[in-house]
Amino acid sequence: MYPNPNTYPRVILKGTLFKKSQQKRRTSPCNYKERYFILNTEDLTYSERRPGKKPIQKGCIELCRIKCVEIVRSDVPIPCEYKYPFQVVYDSYYLYMFAPDNDCRLKWVRALKEETKHNKLFSTYHPDFWGDGRWRCCGHMEKLAPGCSEYYPTGTASKKPLPPTPDPQRRYSCSEQKVVVAIKNFKPVEKTDIPLHKDEEYIVIDTSEPNWWTVQDKDGNVGMVPCLYITEKFSNDIEKYEWYNKDITRAEAEELLMKESKEGAFMVRDSRQAGAYTVSVFTKAPGSNGEKNPRVKHYKVRQTENEDGKFYLAEKYLFSTIPELINYHQYNAAGLITRLRHCVCQDRGNSPRIEEIVSEKWEVDPDELSLGKELGCGQFGVVLEGFWNGKKVAVKTVREDAMSEEEFKEEAKIMTKLSHPKLVKLYGMCMQRSPMCLIFEFLENGCLTDFLRSKKGSFKPEDLLGMCLDVSEAMDYLESSNFIHRDLAARNCLVSEKLEVKVSDFGMTRPVLDDLYVCSTGSKFAMKWSSPEVINHTKFSSKSDVWSFGVLMWEIYSEGRLPYEYRSNAEVIESLNAGQRLLQPRLCPETVYQLMQWCWKEKPEDRPSFALLLHQLASLADF
Ligand code: ADP
Repeated sequence: MYPNPNTYPRVILKGTLFKKSQQKRRTSPCNYKERYFILNTEDLTYSERRPGKKPIQKGCIELCRIKCVEIVRSDVPIPCEYKYPFQVVYDSYYLYMFAPDNDCRLKWVRALKEETKHNKLFSTYHPDFWGDGRWRCCGHMEKLAPGCSEYYPTGTASKKPLPPTPDPQRRYSCSEQKVVVAIKNFKPVEKTDIPLHKDEEYIVIDTSEPNWWTVQDKDGNVGMVPCLYITEKFSNDIEKYEWYNKDITRAEAEELLMKESKEGAFMVRDSRQAGAYTVSVFTKAPGSNGEKNPRVKHYKVRQTENEDGKFYLAEKYLFSTIPELINYHQYNAAGLITRLRHCVCQDRGNSPRIEEIVSEKWEVDPDELSLGKELGCGQFGVVLEGFWNGKKVAVKTVREDAMSEEEFKEEAKIMTKLSHPKLVKLYGMCMQRSPMCLIFEFLENGCLTDFLRSKKGSFKPEDLLGMCLDVSEAMDYLESSNFIHRDLAARNCLVSEKLEVKVSDFGMTRPVLDDLYVCSTGSKFAMKWSSPEVINHTKFSSKSDVWSFGVLMWEIYSEGRLPYEYRSNAEVIESLNAGQRLLQPRLCPETVYQLMQWCWKEKPEDRPSFALLLHQLASLADF
């Protein structure tokens, strides 16, 4: 008897595509394999084809199990030849398939959608990839989290964002109108979000959520956006900034700043030359010519001569507006004697700055925090285990003599602005009791150096590469946020229960390093992690972080050994000047050692950016 053509599975499509391994465990390898796919009326099968041999079937998905088929919209580099991804979600699994071109991708997506349109389908889906423990589209850390975009079972996904649904419970905490500007584009991820368009202005409505503020766009749409993507409105109308002092002479500026007598006290004033501005800064730091007395230094705001006329101070860190330039130097000295810490003004207005509003939101009630055993001892004080808000936390206390309250608040403020899955998360701070403390997410496996040493001999190549990749992700984020870590080393990284490595101490290192900078004898520098330009000229940049990252990769592949173990700092400097570098660790593949050597190029501009390092490491991890 012949099979009934109406019931026998009919082949709909077949062809070669790539598929990504489904990585059920964090340590299982991530790879992209070429497979021969056949879609018929009952299932989707894929097999490995070997020349001259029978194909081996590697998988079969019954169509009735499929819940969503959609193209993947992503900007991640795709490390296989076929660059057009789409996803097939079945049971609780995600199969990522890659087509050679968009037509082929649409052909597969349409055919699969057609065959599954009567299934019990998802109403929402994730438009971007799942990777590194989070959804790239919405940042959700749960793989099975419901989708963040509407799923259309017929046709392909619309690019149109979901309309914002105003929240009737919204609290208006700020009576005064604050205007912010988007520094990046943002695509809504939740129904309550609105998109951000770079350089457009928004009115701040509610700041009661620390990371997500409610804003209103120019068309009156109200919704939530990530704080990190917005900044105070900068314009060249500098008169409204509290750091600007109109009609003040150089002598008056010096008098005001000397009276304030705080390291980094600063103001912007008119230069004698009409239309030009000067930044005056108070410092106690010894100068290169041996000056030791507290004094005021004056930096002229310069402009490049090309048509853009970008602004800069001591070195060529260029900005379109003076407020942007000041904002940058409030976080980075970048050639100045000190960074701009406290603005001084003849008649300070009394409207709170956005940062001040933020820091209030981070205050933790000491009664809600319980403290446990000591975890370790840090540079500023002891680190304790704690319990807060239903979870285990790490509490970093700060000795009174280690940092002033003002300095502490300022550093904490920096940390509240930075948020990334591979940065140790700050939950809040406690200023109301002594000693002051910062409350961080708890990472079960503690400091990376200790972890590497204690588990020596047990690491697989992908574990070591995964650690480098984690750190490069955090650093790529810091680099793109214009933030310099300055003390990147394994001792300043922590390890989670899932063996993820997260970068810590990204806001706390600055005052310590500034003090060292003040001493400038070099003796206390984390010399063995420092680039030549930091050692010779204390010149920090993202590229000096890149050098330290090379040393950190070396620490990882040496399973926690101390770099240049038996050499003094002076010997290290001598060998670096002679062009010598750390040797290739036994466990380190040639490809990774080449990246380390790239990080240790003499000239900062010859070193890769973190974006490039991340890309390179990710492609090594994929094969
Ligand atoms: P510092 O950088 O100020 O010297 P550390 O951050 O190194 O201090 O903290 C000292 C020790 O406390 C670390 O080596 C680690 O063992 C422990 N520790 C610090 N932060 C955490 C955290 N978030 N989770 C778990 N342990 C931590």
